[in-house]
Amino acid sequence: MTIRFGPAGLGGVKEAISNLEMYHKLGLRACEIAFTYGIYIKEKEEAVKIGEKARELGIELSIHAPYWINLNSSDKEKREKSKKRILDCCKIGTWLRAEVVVFHPGYYGNMSKEEAFENIKNAILEMQEEIKKEKYTPKLAPETSGKINVFGSIHEIGKLVEETHCSFCLDFAHILARYKTYNFYETLSEFKKHKELHIHFSGIEYGEKGEKHHKDTSESELKKLISELPKDKDIVIINESPSPIKDSVLGLSLYEKNK
Ligand SMILES: [Zn+2]
Repeated sequence: MTIRFGPAGLGGVKEAISNLEMYHKLGLRACEIAFTYGIYIKEKEEAVKIGEKARELGIELSIHAPYWINLNSSDKEKREKSKKRILDCCKIGTWLRAEVVVFHPGYYGNMSKEEAFENIKNAILEMQEEIKKEKYTPKLAPETSGKINVFGSIHEIGKLVEETHCSFCLDFAHILARYKTYNFYETLSEFKKHKELHIHFSGIEYGEKGEKHHKDTSESELKKLISELPKDKDIVIINESPSPIKDSVLGLSLYEKNK
């Protein structure tokens, strides 16, 4: 079993290598590259270089796809564009040797939850065909959502995994915002047969409808997470707070102390 801590964010292409070296020195062994506002690594040569450095330093890379994704849009063009954004991440992710491409699957809109599920499931199946055809290596990882009106309950993600064999991202800050409790037991039971867990964790501000914004992660929140983690899995914990490096180092030190 391994637990890797690491931040969301690698920085720009120019700083990527030196940031990886800094993360390594801090003991961090994961990093999620944020393409949330656009896929900013474009050249194959750059991506391969970053991927090789990460591998050399023992840092596992993942990608967060752009926010502008709705696989359940009633507008076909928007659905196709959403799929393309995710697939572009898979292409760059292959060069980077990233393990997973995390994405927010979409909104319920005016559809029923069942219709939304079917549409999103079909979009994932279509993307998987393309991934196979193009020989891309990252796995698709739909993420649990932090808002009650956004697709991505614990069970919806569990069912997607069951029916498409995609991977998944468990964002416990989002789960807290959506359910008003971390639901560690229920969530980890739903995914108990999977050996690898990709987790997002940070502090979060939330209200009735769920997530407002991420905030710094407190020691007590990190301790709660660490004490609930299964002991027989390979786990990546990506911190998405406004201070993701500091909070990842805090998580790592609390984990080491309680080992
Ligand atoms: Zn997240």
